[in-house]
Amino acid sequence: MIYLDHNATTPPAPSAVQAMLSALTDVWANASSQHPSGQQAKRALAAARAGVARVLGCKPAEVIFTSGATEANHLAVLGLHALAPDGRRRVVFGAVEHAGHLALARSLAARGVPVDFIGVHADGTLDLDGAARVIGPDVALVSLMAANNETGVLMPVQEVSALAHAAGARMHVDATQFIGKVPFDFARFGADAVSLSAHKLRGPKGIGALLLRQGVMLAQQMQGSQERRRRGGTENLPAIAGFAAALERLGDVTAESVRVGQLRDALEQGLQRALPGVHVFSAQAPRLACTSYLRFGRLPAEVVLQRLEQLGVCASSGAACSSGGSEPSHVLTAMGVPRDEALGAVRLSLGETTTARDIDFLLAALPPLLAPLLENYAADAA
Ligand code: PMP
Repeated sequence: MIYLDHNATTPPAPSAVQAMLSALTDVWANASSQHPSGQQAKRALAAARAGVARVLGCKPAEVIFTSGATEANHLAVLGLHALAPDGRRRVVFGAVEHAGHLALARSLAARGVPVDFIGVHADGTLDLDGAARVIGPDVALVSLMAANNETGVLMPVQEVSALAHAAGARMHVDATQFIGKVPFDFARFGADAVSLSAHKLRGPKGIGALLLRQGVMLAQQMQGSQERRRRGGTENLPAIAGFAAALERLGDVTAESVRVGQLRDALEQGLQRALPGVHVFSAQAPRLACTSYLRFGRLPAEVVLQRLEQLGVCASSGAACSSGGSEPSHVLTAMGVPRDEALGAVRLSLGETTTARDIDFLLAALPPLLAPLLENYAADAA
């Protein structure tokens, strides 16, 4: 099996699995219990929190563990919005945020909260002029992703943070696809709150964090005394230990991104040489080195995915499938990509376990399967 769906999730690192097993076996007590076993769990929790904070460049007290990035995003937006000063009710989102986050934006709007979106250009980059237009004195907070999960396009979060802060608003960044791939230091990042998720960086699923700048208050969404009364519920220590271990093993993310970028470029160039009509979305935009988002002429994504599956390759389409058919990706739609082209979008996302052999295999095996199909579709369209 060749796994090219790292933006969906990554294989847990052995050291993360080991840390989880040890925590499950050795420190299973409740970290709030007063007896010695509970105190041992409390110490393990503090050690994991310190490890997370050290790697991410924040203080341990700035780490709020959550069930993942979806919850961290909700906590940031609902929690900061609830405590915004009078006269600041508007929330500004990026137009190509993760689907769960856009659903939150729609639910706020349905409740009467004024919501605005910052659009993107045809290449997937953020419309900074548009950001400057919508970020005004009635804005409570701006919520923007650091890197898009489909195109990989990097967003100008520092510039938008500066706009938000100049307008007196809070800034939240969903850095789920960014952290672990690009150097990150919370103290210098410029945002008030940052979401991340362990399973995108070789940790377990169901655990993540909201980093919240010291002194910034938010309204608790899940009641309970844990996480300094910012997120209630017994701490998931095995998952937290796995999360910390995954972060602590990260190493030089720049070097890894150069390695993966070379493989990604070889993949894109090789496919374009071997087949007519291969189009790479956001090819010229600053984007994550691991992400390739393409369409093969007019071939529908499911046809390509079927052939990839036949070859033992795991990948994703850019479409949201529902029982009645597929809807084109909201990201490509926001970029102005026509529906039929968007329905051909296939995402190949590379990661630490991807090797040059994987790419060589794909380049040798995929074009012969797609070439006759491309001819048929071209003939049909003619
Ligand atoms: N934001 C982005 C940009 C993502 O890519 C994802 C995961 N696909 C999420 C949020 C949700 O993360 P989680 O699975 O931890 O809830």
